[in-house]
Amino acid sequence: MSTAFFSHPECRLHDMGEGHPECPQRLDAIADHLLGSGLDVALQQHEAPLATAEQLARAHASGYIAQVSDLMQQVQHSGRPRAIDPDTQVCAGTLQAALRAAGAAVAATDEVLSGRCVNAFCAVRPPGHHATRDQAMGFCFFNNVAVAARHALDVHGLQRVAIVDFDVHHGNGTEDIIAGDERVLMASFFQHPLYPYSGGVPKGENMVNVPVPPYTRGAAVRELIESMWMPRLEAFRPQMLFVSAGFDAHRDDELGQLGLVEADYQWITERIKGVADRHAEGRIVSCLEGGYHLDALARSVAVHLRVLAGL
Ligand SMILES: [Zn+2]
Repeated sequence: MSTAFFSHPECRLHDMGEGHPECPQRLDAIADHLLGSGLDVALQQHEAPLATAEQLARAHASGYIAQVSDLMQQVQHSGRPRAIDPDTQVCAGTLQAALRAAGAAVAATDEVLSGRCVNAFCAVRPPGHHATRDQAMGFCFFNNVAVAARHALDVHGLQRVAIVDFDVHHGNGTEDIIAGDERVLMASFFQHPLYPYSGGVPKGENMVNVPVPPYTRGAAVRELIESMWMPRLEAFRPQMLFVSAGFDAHRDDELGQLGLVEADYQWITERIKGVADRHAEGRIVSCLEGGYHLDALARSVAVHLRVLAGL
């Protein structure tokens, strides 16, 4: 078994209320589908640890970590939710869930770099790619992927890592954290215009931003990946790849208007895995970001995992 699967029951404790698309049932849908399809037994199952403040500080300002942790602790004790923005609420279980989500990404990085597995997927929430160095927003509190990428660089001593983001929304938080950090190449596509309305002009030379208009379908996205991402990724020769795996560019997902289907996620994962196999001994840590149509999410995660696991 070469693929690790990290999650934690406490990732379900973060609950922003009825009708919020970023809901605990997302993880249930994934778990049910993996169980039903028998895919779960093909994966090394791990419980995510809690991230430490030191780990978070590799991607976030220490003042922000203290401030948002204080707020999360207050809400944990009082039980009264507090809104950071109209989409992003701290509730009683947010602290535990957010620390497990970032902790999963860090532990998955350790696991992959130890050689005990080739790659890993983190089925976690809250997601992370909108969380900037000093701001929670867009359902995100800590930038799980950026924390893990910096962990690989600063703790394990890697010199070059790539971040690939295929969520329908621009990963503005990740860009904010890693733009100008020449040890990281970030390649993404995202619907534009769409929340958070950024990314049209990249913030650094290490950013490969590919905005695509609403209603773009999978074939056109594949061509853009082939022509825009692949030459940069090949030239960069990353020693490890991190994936912001959002599945909200799916045709059935109502948070975006792109037209991807499971076969597109399979193809994208194969392309990412090809880069990892050629340059990085296969090393990939993939973290769940968006994906809000529960059935489409579960099916898309399953095809992503099948490619990672070589099944
Ligand atoms: Zn998204």
